[in-house]
Amino acid sequence: MLASSSLPCSLADINEASSYYFLPKNPAPPLPTDQELAVETIRRDFPALHQQINGRPLIWLDNAATTQKPQSVIDAVTHFYSQDNSNVHRGAHTLAKRATDAYEGAREKVMHFIGANSVEEIIFVRSATEAINLVAQSYGRRVVGPGDEIIVSILDHHANIVPWQLLCEEKGATLRVIPVNNNAEIIVEEYEKLLNSKTRFIAIPHVSNSLGTVVPIKIIIDMAHSLGIPVLVDGAQGIPHFKTDVQELGADFYAFSGHKLFGPTGIGVLYGKKSLLEEIPPWQGGGNMIKNVTFEHTTFNSLPNKFEAGTGHIAGAVGLGAAIDYLTDLGLAKIEIYEKDLMAYATETLCNIPKLHLIGTAAHKAAILSFVVQGVPSGRIAEFLDRQGIAVRVGHHCAQPSLRRFGLDSTIRPSIAFYNTFAEIDELVWAIQQSIR
Ligand code: PLP
Repeated sequence: MLASSSLPCSLADINEASSYYFLPKNPAPPLPTDQELAVETIRRDFPALHQQINGRPLIWLDNAATTQKPQSVIDAVTHFYSQDNSNVHRGAHTLAKRATDAYEGAREKVMHFIGANSVEEIIFVRSATEAINLVAQSYGRRVVGPGDEIIVSILDHHANIVPWQLLCEEKGATLRVIPVNNNAEIIVEEYEKLLNSKTRFIAIPHVSNSLGTVVPIKIIIDMAHSLGIPVLVDGAQGIPHFKTDVQELGADFYAFSGHKLFGPTGIGVLYGKKSLLEEIPPWQGGGNMIKNVTFEHTTFNSLPNKFEAGTGHIAGAVGLGAAIDYLTDLGLAKIEIYEKDLMAYATETLCNIPKLHLIGTAAHKAAILSFVVQGVPSGRIAEFLDRQGIAVRVGHHCAQPSLRRFGLDSTIRPSIAFYNTFAEIDELVWAIQQSIR
């Protein structure tokens, strides 16, 4: 239900925004772009896409929650468990060597994929959530003290709010929040005002998971660095859509989850600059992260093992490596162009539905189309869509502050990936229209 009739989310409002590049003046017919990425061929690689849900072909538009997996990822995980399964780093036998090669090979793939300087900068964790908690608990605890400030944004997922809030409570520090304008764009001038001599750390999203805003992370990082303040980028919704180079960005930390990148669940990555990772203490203790243990004193392993206590998700890392191979073969640049056209088409067609309000109309947006329909409960629409085999997310998307900024507790959130088609968007639009009749 809309709390305000002045939400900047109607098509008219969007057309007024001159910088709104998702509505090209003469939209190109979708077919050639479709062919460029050979989407119909690509779709054959994803077995989960070829099933019926409630008697209708599945239309998977819940990609921001998790992505479907190509057969090559499924095969890599199966191959690992059926042929190479062993623990890593600590065995003199053949399978231990194979498993270690596969695990460390995946680390190298991640390093190349994000443009890191060395494998020492790639920490395997459970997910983006765990990566952020690691930084908050290890780096944050060391540098933040009473009276200090940490900056996050109103667009952040709870995973990039709560760990910093917990740290602030523990240390007597204050959480400051970068606001957004009515298009859900970060107000850079307000961010600048928040920066001061008490600021110890900045944590921002690459892309908002609830409203789709692409955050100007390079600008934010450069401004922070000019004052010597480190920045963590929550890349969970950025890396699946853009070629990401952490060195080019200058990010001190970059966190993401494998399962949103067409890889397995339970595996994620924390990138950290080597100089910072070397400086900070381990987060968890256990096997693998030590060099020498006595009851008097323990010395720690070198990077990246220092931050990987216990047995990690070895098969998950191998699957993530396969996902990276798959995406590299497709080409991130091609994916970006295709998704931009698909977003433009989806934005335009959704906006033609009477009383539908897009929430989040940033000039630079990716993959996410949050909306409400005035006078119609979102749950009713989502339920109808499910009956048509269309999977979308409804709710607060674990980003309550971002929705409350627009007077809302909940939106319907279709989110796209490169395997979605223009025809699927047509089906979505048709189903929404039916649900609100
Ligand atoms: N950050 C963002 C922007 C997200 O969208 C999500 C999940 O939706 C997360 C962090 C947390 O990801 P995970 O649950 O995989 O740790």
